[in-house]
Amino acid sequence: MTDDAVLARRARDALREGRLPLGRPVRVWGGPGGGDLCIVCGTPVSADEIDYELALPPADSGGSATTVHLHQGCFRAWQIELERLDAPLSRESGAGTIRHPHRAAPEGAE
Ligand SMILES: [Zn+2]
Repeated sequence: MTDDAVLARRARDALREGRLPLGRPVRVWGGPGGGDLCIVCGTPVSADEIDYELALPPADSGGSATTVHLHQGCFRAWQIELERLDAPLSRESGAGTIRHPHRAAPEGAE
């Protein structure tokens, strides 16, 4: 299995487990790593790598926004998975409209 395939699977797992959003984060910025653990691969983002920080909306109205860290390659893997899932990442106004994957239509409804 290639590294890309491993990252893709981990990004998919992170999406499924809710560690990464299915929509556009509140804010994304990059900078030199500070040793924070990558949310996708679980290894630290070291100072010679780009650290992608995502500010995520709170899971519920009473919560506070959280920040997660990703390697450049892990960030890319997440974006590729979003495209595969046809998530609304490209919509500028999509910040507050994260779709819930489990909200399926009732059985038998067409
Ligand atoms: Zn990573």
